Amino acid sequence: MIADTMLGEIARWLRILGYDVLYSRNYSDYQILNIARKTGRVILTRDWGLHVKARKKGIRSIYVSTDNITERLAELVLKLGIELNPDQAKSRCPECNAELIVVTDKKRVKDRVPPGAYERYSVFYLCPRCGRVYWEGGHWRNIRRIVSDARKLVEVARSAGKTG
Ligand SMILES: [Zn+2]
Repeated sequence: MIADTMLGEIARWLRILGYDVLYSRNYSDYQILNIARKTGRVILTRDWGLHVKARKKGIRSIYVSTDNITERLAELVLKLGIELNPDQAKSRCPECNAELIVVTDKKRVKDRVPPGAYERYSVFYLCPRCGRVYWEGGHWRNIRRIVSDARKLVEVARSAGKTG
């Protein structure tokens, strides 16, 4: 996937969920179309003009029509068939999209982690590209809650589709 400049938040979420998503605030429409054409990536966009241009060129594009992150995740499940299985070990770096490395010998990351987190957690995840270190802290409760809400929206939409 490649996300347009308005979809930084969903790009980060998809990376956390393990999806390979390109995103840059500096992409032009031309660059997005070009990268999508060359790499076969699906475009995610809030820009109807870009969506139409992509379609005309035969490039797969999803026009994201919802506003909040829960709805957007549900929308991408329905339109693109992504799966919502949060697993830190399969996450990509939300900032730079690289696959994270599981660090079980936590001494390796001691100087990059706040002391409280270092004491409390035994497994850390290192980004080999930007050097950021992650752990399954309190924000993962929030990630799981939002994913669970998104799944409920998908169920509602699917059952509405069946009966209507
Ligand atoms: Zn990174």
